[in-house]
Amino acid sequence: MRRISILGSTGSIGVSTLRLLDETGRLGEDYVIEALIGGRNVELLVEQALKYRPAITVLGDAAQWSRFRELIGNAGLAIACGEEAVCAAAGRKADWVMAAIVGIAGLKPTWAAAGTGAVLALANKESLVCCGRALIERVEAHGGRVLPVDSEHNAIYQVLDPSQRDRVSRLILTASGGPFLGRTREDLKSVTVEQALKHPNWSMGAKITIDSATLANKGLEFIEAAYLFDVPADKISVLVHPQSVIHSMVEYKDGSSLAQLGSPDMRVPISYCLAWPNRIDWQAPRLDLAARGTLTFAEPDLDAFPMLRLARQALEAGQGMPTVFNAANEVCVQAFLDRKIAFLQIAEFVESAMMRAQLPSIPSKDHVNRDTNDGMMISALDIDRDIRRLMGELFAESRLRA
Ligand code: NAD
Ligand code: MG
Repeated sequence: MRRISILGSTGSIGVSTLRLLDETGRLGEDYVIEALIGGRNVELLVEQALKYRPAITVLGDAAQWSRFRELIGNAGLAIACGEEAVCAAAGRKADWVMAAIVGIAGLKPTWAAAGTGAVLALANKESLVCCGRALIERVEAHGGRVLPVDSEHNAIYQVLDPSQRDRVSRLILTASGGPFLGRTREDLKSVTVEQALKHPNWSMGAKITIDSATLANKGLEFIEAAYLFDVPADKISVLVHPQSVIHSMVEYKDGSSLAQLGSPDMRVPISYCLAWPNRIDWQAPRLDLAARGTLTFAEPDLDAFPMLRLARQALEAGQGMPTVFNAANEVCVQAFLDRKIAFLQIAEFVESAMMRAQLPSIPSKDHVNRDTNDGMMISALDIDRDIRRLMGELFAESRLRA
């Protein structure tokens, strides 16, 4: 019996994970739910709690405590509210944890889960971008393992032969190109929130959908790949592949490139993580290549989509710059969704933030006690807070100029 916790159970990845567990038909036999954690959607979280009866159910939003209690009624379920309770639940002993809270809000809970020795199915790429190898080292120091949920990294994980690491010439991340593939900078001046929220292949949460439209998502994934697989920026490239069938590739020095293919359905990489090191048998969507007919490829357009270039610069700069990129992007995505800035301004403000950021010195590796030291996580949260303040200043300056 494996105890499973899902951080972000009410989101797109969380719901896909629960659906997959249902489809295995092994809930209650092979799997039992330890913790379900949601942010604000109290109705869905309660519905999940009543169905799956986890040992603990936590709602992040403390303001909805009384509504949460009222809806749970006397179902005999343990519930809690607020950020501390989220981290405590995330840090409970479990065998497998899905880290799928979106954005920097996922950092502390993911960090807590990383200290439990569980297999960490990592969807919350933002925490890896901000903590880098320190997150992976924390997981491994506690006897756990990080398995990437992101479809691209999951693909690479499946085809990267650890015994031949020095024979790898390149990691090739594929990118759908998002809803604005083929558009020029000029075309992108006036795109709307509704247009940006229409992803051609994947159905996902709002933040990652906007990130896919700007290619910030591929930028975050670029950084994610560098940390996960411990490879430098010049050994990672991005290939636009609009059909999202090839999820990524590893190119070896002997001339072979290995790819993983699948339907664009997140339950496929999630099922790989769930069953690792085995594979499970479920009614997975089959890939019908003949029906698809054509797969196409192109170079990314860095002029129309500068976020990819900025992410690479952030990775190369190191020393907290990926956290700056992430924080500035998160603030800008929210401002775009709130219709306070235009689509192209996302990259403009992120670039300004990267130029203006004052970075504290990051704790050096020697000072980090791998078992207990939270230095990297705390320093990421500090940078995140400073950048949020800086973004306020940058927005105000730009309003003054306008
Ligand atoms: P989503 O917005 O659909 O869901 C986010 C989840 O996080 C929700 O359950 C929400 O309630 C929870 N949450 C938000 N703030 C919280 C807080 N303060 N405390 C507790 N819970 C909180 O997002 P998503 O699309 O499921 O993405 C989740 C993560 O997975 C992101 O980091 C994203 O980049 C990554 N990811 C998603 C996909 C996808 O297909 N959706 C693919 C690859 C990677
Ligand atoms: Mg991805």
